[in-house]
Amino acid sequence: MSGLREIRERMARAALDAGRVEGDVVLVAVSKTFPVEALEAVYGEGQRVFGESRQQEAEEKVAKMPEDVEWHFIGRVQRNKLRKIVRDFSVIHAVDSLKLARAVGELGRELGREISVFLQINVAGEESKGGFTVEECYRALPEILALSGVRVLGLMQIPPDDERAGYWFGQLRELRDLWCEEFANLGRGLSMGMSGDFEEAIRQGATHIRVGSAIFGGRAYRVEGELG
Ligand SMILES: *Cc1c(COP(=O)(O)O)cnc(C)c1O
Repeated sequence: MSGLREIRERMARAALDAGRVEGDVVLVAVSKTFPVEALEAVYGEGQRVFGESRQQEAEEKVAKMPEDVEWHFIGRVQRNKLRKIVRDFSVIHAVDSLKLARAVGELGRELGREISVFLQINVAGEESKGGFTVEECYRALPEILALSGVRVLGLMQIPPDDERAGYWFGQLRELRDLWCEEFANLGRGLSMGMSGDFEEAIRQGATHIRVGSAIFGGRAYRVEGELG
């Protein structure tokens, strides 16, 4: 058995605490570094949404897993992989620049559909982290939201690795509230919360949590470009 059932129970409790329902929160089971057998086991327990952070690694898993899996790309997008990412994944969680958003839009228009994305925000302004700064994102938003071929589901963050994750989650929620008042077609989604802090993220309004090790067990190695 994986840790899925326990995570589901903890999600339900956190949602209840916050006066929300568990069904309002999408659990993205982050399966990067784990073999397809591990995904199959979790699929067998009912999980359908999986997250991967590297296109090449995911390709084989996408081919082997059943058709009804919904794949979310949570890693940093390399431009030369964008076409394959869009082919295999339903949602891109970490669009972190205007240039990338434009490229996604171009591809969406070429394919005749809208590609769903989150915009990654570096709320704490950490030098080493990926994502838009708050300022950059605010400046880019009018253009991004006017692009055809892209649908912005909401905002995503990887908070600083400190004791205050809940504070940063709250900051992202406030930003979402503020910007949604100003921009009618900005989605209200919040992709935030991982194995160590997803309950706090749910209490702060997360709509998508990205949980890996608490479901699949510890990872043997770090993924390059992870937590970017
Ligand atoms: C690996 C990863 C996760 C999951 O991390 P866990 O601590 O294993 O739950 C979530 N989000 C991103 C962007 C990741 O790279």
